Amino acid sequence: MAGNVAVVVRVRPQTQQEQEGSRHAVVQVIDDSMLVFDPEEPCLSGVFTGFRGHDAPKRKGKDLKFVFDQVFGESATQEEVFQHTTKEILDGVLNGYNCSVFAYGATGAGKTYTMLGSEKSPGIMYLTMVELYKRIEARKEEKSCEVLISYQEVYNEQIHDLLEPKGPLAIREDPEKGVVVQGLSFHQPKSAEQLLEMLASGNRNRTQHPTDANATSSRSHAVFQIYVKQQDRVVGITQDLQVAKMSLIDLAGSERASATNTKGERLREGANINRSLLALINVINALADAKSRKSHIPYRDSKLTRLLKDSLGGNCRTIMIAAISPSALAYEDTYNTLKYANRAK
Ligand code: ADP
Ligand code: MG
Repeated sequence: MAGNVAVVVRVRPQTQQEQEGSRHAVVQVIDDSMLVFDPEEPCLSGVFTGFRGHDAPKRKGKDLKFVFDQVFGESATQEEVFQHTTKEILDGVLNGYNCSVFAYGATGAGKTYTMLGSEKSPGIMYLTMVELYKRIEARKEEKSCEVLISYQEVYNEQIHDLLEPKGPLAIREDPEKGVVVQGLSFHQPKSAEQLLEMLASGNRNRTQHPTDANATSSRSHAVFQIYVKQQDRVVGITQDLQVAKMSLIDLAGSERASATNTKGERLREGANINRSLLALINVINALADAKSRKSHIPYRDSKLTRLLKDSLGGNCRTIMIAAISPSALAYEDTYNTLKYANRAK
């Protein structure tokens, strides 16, 4: 882990359609921190079109090896991914530090599955809340604690509330409260079930447009935030209120706009998606570049990075979960994601 940024990779299982193609996977998980990417499997003849120009990977020997803080293979459960990612930084939040976890990858790579999950196997957003409630319960004698959540999306460089949809919301920076989204609604789920309902209804409010590349692709960044307000229980003394937040983000697809034959409205979307994603990657890179100790972190370059300004860098721990498909059909997206993830370490 370089500085406060950890990078993990999750390889999802092949879909039925991918399996039916009876092609070998181009990603092989070696152990819990290493994977091998090899698009030139012999079985791919006729499929592999070669990397274009400067995109050609630098190979050491035959395979392209990648090492990350953690690599999750296709059999990894939601619980395992949670245990080795968000759970490890929950203590930071309870100690008053903001932190962020985001899922990066192409459309269809498994970002939403990892963050939100399905009804049968809820993802990191849900598992984090359950664990947080558990820890708060365990120390309720010493501390009083209030937990609030919000769920918003960044779409086309505009912020929308997913739990109480209304017009686009403005961001401002407050010297005491940090980044504030004006008019954003906060909620206090009374139970795990109610939280799941909120997440599901918020997700239904996400802006989704079919594109040529994938009919269910999501073009928006979904930002789920958990605010923890704590106070020591000491009778008769006014205690400082400690507030920290954890941001869990399901990013829009990282595939290039050019791959989706974008025109008109979609093209503008594509440009803006790239702007927020590119800005985020630049911020992460600048933070991960511990050696150069860059003083300028380009937070102001997009809505997403402005929104996360007080949750990235400094004492804020950040986990990037790069989601990839092992299928030969997605080798270019997979390679791009691995390349970015590798750079962010
Ligand atoms: P993304 O949000 O990156 O576009 P999704 O999370 O929607 O991708 O995943 C694409 C498909 O693959 C979905 O049908 C999802 O249920 C499935 N999927 C993704 N990851 C896993 C996994 N780890 N295990 C089982 N199914 C998965
Ligand atoms: Mg998704």
